[in-house]
Amino acid sequence: LEIEMSRLDILNVVGEMAASIGHEVRNPLTTVRGYLQFFQNKKETIQYHEQFQIMIDELDRANLIISEFLSLAKNKAVKFNLCNLNAIINKLSPLIHSDALHFGHNVQIEMGNIPDINLDEKELRQLLLNLMRNAFEAMKTGGTLTIQSYVDGDNVVLTVRDTGTGIPQKILDKLGTPFLTTKENGVGLGMAVCYRIADRHGAKIDVKTSPQGTTFLVTFKI
Ligand code: ADP
Ligand code: MG
Repeated sequence: LEIEMSRLDILNVVGEMAASIGHEVRNPLTTVRGYLQFFQNKKETIQYHEQFQIMIDELDRANLIISEFLSLAKNKAVKFNLCNLNAIINKLSPLIHSDALHFGHNVQIEMGNIPDINLDEKELRQLLLNLMRNAFEAMKTGGTLTIQSYVDGDNVVLTVRDTGTGIPQKILDKLGTPFLTTKENGVGLGMAVCYRIADRHGAKIDVKTSPQGTTFLVTFKI
């Protein structure tokens, strides 16, 4: 029996397999993480506290990679609701500020008067976090992250700007390709996920970059 498959069929099958394996692998990881945390907090193992933390952090990293991989799946279920981008920014604000503190960066949030639009809140949160992480990682200590929301014609625009070192042309041309990274510990899925999320929202992502910094503009139709 010969079965013919197009390249797209193969990609879809591989994608679906990867997605289901991802879901299955997550459960054992969660169990192991729970036990590690349990043993970490025993007084008998106090001298190994740091080693336990390394194991937990590595599991979190594996989990993050699986999450990003799962959100790359084309047929991922999304839940659209009429909501305000500013509410999502507000909810993330404490996390953004604590990350900024950790890196020694400044944060400026400028929210305009914008209407509600159809969004998957979880996905938008992910998009914003991915852009924010890249921004923080692109700057030396003392940089500034600026997040803005505003109306431009028939669009709601979200911008994430950093005062980092910019994106080299040869990376810019391939931005969003899975596993593209210039970082020693990078995975290279963050931007691919952002483009996928924007795509599912009918939004577009534009990039302006120079050696003085980078701005990502995400444009949604009202
Ligand atoms: P990762 O962060 O794991 O490397 P991403 O997909 O998030 O993967 O980003 C891919 C690459 O794009 C990064 O390694 C970096 O070279 C470049 N990049 C993305 N955002 C920025 C930014 N704000 N400033 C400079 N370079 C960036
Ligand atoms: Mg990243």
